[in-house]
Amino acid sequence: MKPDKLAIELLRPEIKRPTAWSIPKVLRALEPDGLGGDVDTTTVFLTGAECPFRCSMCDLWQYTSPGNTPVGAIPFQLDQVLKQERSNGRRWLKLYNASNFFDSRSIPTEDLKSIAEHCSPFERVIVENHPRFCDDRMASFSKAIPGQLEVAMGLETIHPNAIEIMNKGMSLADFDRAVAKCQSLNIDVRVFVLLHPPGVDRKESVDWTWKTVAYAMERQVRHISIIPLRAGNGWIDRMIKSEEYQLPTVAMIRELYQSFSRSEIGSAGVASPGNTTVEFDLWDFENWQGGCPQCRESLGKHIARCNRELRILSLGETEIRCECTV
Ligand code: SF4
Repeated sequence: MKPDKLAIELLRPEIKRPTAWSIPKVLRALEPDGLGGDVDTTTVFLTGAECPFRCSMCDLWQYTSPGNTPVGAIPFQLDQVLKQERSNGRRWLKLYNASNFFDSRSIPTEDLKSIAEHCSPFERVIVENHPRFCDDRMASFSKAIPGQLEVAMGLETIHPNAIEIMNKGMSLADFDRAVAKCQSLNIDVRVFVLLHPPGVDRKESVDWTWKTVAYAMERQVRHISIIPLRAGNGWIDRMIKSEEYQLPTVAMIRELYQSFSRSEIGSAGVASPGNTTVEFDLWDFENWQGGCPQCRESLGKHIARCNRELRILSLGETEIRCECTV
């Protein structure tokens, strides 16, 4: 089942990709601060060079531009959307470039100073990065911004077969080294964990998601986002078509919440994950597989409540009344 880099590229759908001189999309939302409150968080979706890795499940290349990012393009994009920003209460900033923030092909080193200046109104700055790019540039950038740097990395799964199939170019030892390096530099860590990556038996998948969350929690990361795997990158689409793989469904997401109490974390008597914020990513929840619009909506509300309260509540604790059978 393991695809190679070429096969992953050849199966990508034809799309028109943005340029590095596009005006970035911006999202403003409240995010749990891990202390029982919410913070006004601005996410800027930057466009630049593609990540050099070819994870079999990744659809982020669609939001990148061909070739290396030209010097000046990222400050140009930030000028368009952050020029008016002032330090005004607690504000967080996510700079997401659909690649690796500390890869100079994606974010030119010459631009880091100007980017750091754009970060000055923000209390916390969150960037995405592959564990193998946690280098000296990360340490310098952390010193250059007045706020707290947080580096978001994809652990994805600790299931051995799924790690192979994912083609991530990273071992668990690489991940552990990157987390330790961030923590030694006083940089917070955010981790992405997938629900049901290919290569995990469907019946065991929810358990493996909780095992992966527990692995990240043991490393004392600040935040964990659980993300249901999406279609749209070509290789996954082909696997679905050939019936070798099925996306996670609403039923599986429900099972995730129902099974927390018997998971490694829940059965240890941890009612909520303590110092680590664990949230389920609600992006695109209207398009989750299975269920009806009503049950997707009620499940979405349940998850939003859990995200807000920093607790993993089983479904019986909310009003989910859906007649459909998923
Ligand atoms: S490392 Fe991240 S951005 Fe790069 S291919 Fe994998 S998932 Fe996509």
